[in-house]
Amino acid sequence: MTAVNLLDFDLDGLAAYCDSLGEKRFRAVQLMRWVHQRGEADFDRMSDLAKSLRAKLAGVAEVRPLPVISEHRSADGTVKWLFDVGAGNAVEAVFIPEDDRGTLCVSSQAGCAVGCRFCSTGHQGFSRNLTTGEILAQLWHAERSLRRAGAARPGPDPRVITNVVMMGMGEPLQNYAALVPALRVMLDDHAYGLSRRRLTVSTSGIVPMMDRLREDLPVALAVSLHAPDDALRDQLVPINRKYPLAELLAACQRYLERAPRDFITFEYCMLDGVNDSDAHARALLALVSARGPVGRLPCKFNLIPFNPFPQSGLRRSPNERVQAFAQVLMDGGIVTTVRRTRGDDIDAACGQLAGEVQDRTRVQERLLVRGPLPRAAAARAPNA
Ligand code: SF4
Repeated sequence: MTAVNLLDFDLDGLAAYCDSLGEKRFRAVQLMRWVHQRGEADFDRMSDLAKSLRAKLAGVAEVRPLPVISEHRSADGTVKWLFDVGAGNAVEAVFIPEDDRGTLCVSSQAGCAVGCRFCSTGHQGFSRNLTTGEILAQLWHAERSLRRAGAARPGPDPRVITNVVMMGMGEPLQNYAALVPALRVMLDDHAYGLSRRRLTVSTSGIVPMMDRLREDLPVALAVSLHAPDDALRDQLVPINRKYPLAELLAACQRYLERAPRDFITFEYCMLDGVNDSDAHARALLALVSARGPVGRLPCKFNLIPFNPFPQSGLRRSPNERVQAFAQVLMDGGIVTTVRRTRGDDIDAACGQLAGEVQDRTRVQERLLVRGPLPRAAAARAPNA
């Protein structure tokens, strides 16, 4: 019989499991604290658990970590773990330390079905959804490993990871059933105790699931935009054919009614000669300005330097182009940041996850059929 993995449960799930063992809910709280706050996997070391409960758990339950294939530490403090999720699949989690925070980027799927043109994960095709336990095991391992490496913060709260972004491999909103309990554990004061503002789900724009998340668990939202018009976004983010920009931006507006932050973050990968002209920036301003009860959709832009990988056929926009693009947005009154590239020396940047590309769903063939991106796209952009 396979042991029950306690990482699969949020607090209610753990309470139901304890109930099935004839134990009260407060035992679930104790277990939650041991497993997630203290990173303990050995029931014998959970000293305030009744011996009878420890005996019941032994053999039928476990805290199941993901096997670590590799751990790479960058000179800038970035750490990348590659986890084995079986059947030849691997997922990655990346820790990015900054002065005032420590952010963990977590994966939600092995591969991804969305197939964004500029994304290394998208080029691998889709293998399977991760379980709640596999999503949480990345955070569980990262926090534990960082603390053991001496990164625990001084004071009563030793947590190293202060922010989580669901921005690793996969489209989190296409793995909703496993995602939501994992988010609950991240928010739970008996576990990681993150605030909703410090927990971000990044989506390519799965409109119905954005609405569900708004109702169920409205955490901070980032949207992968990458283009100012449907023609170009259809090429770069194929889910746009199903949920075009007008629907996506309307969903963003609805999300803001419940969001913990009063803006949406738009991610925008800067691709040389494809989506990075001043005309594209002006088209973005026009796009977000047409929305909202008081006009503009409250938003920030995060410009992401593209990380080239061999199969993409795309190039990174020059720094001067990125700066000029940012300036057009800022002159238009939109807060715009340019993501610093981190962990370049360990291949940790977003889109380069799971380096050994396994072409699971004949993505390369499909891309060849789709053909190269129109480099004249700049000329076709609105306001061009
Ligand atoms: S950018 Fe995100 S949604 Fe798009 S293919 Fe990559 S992992 Fe999937």
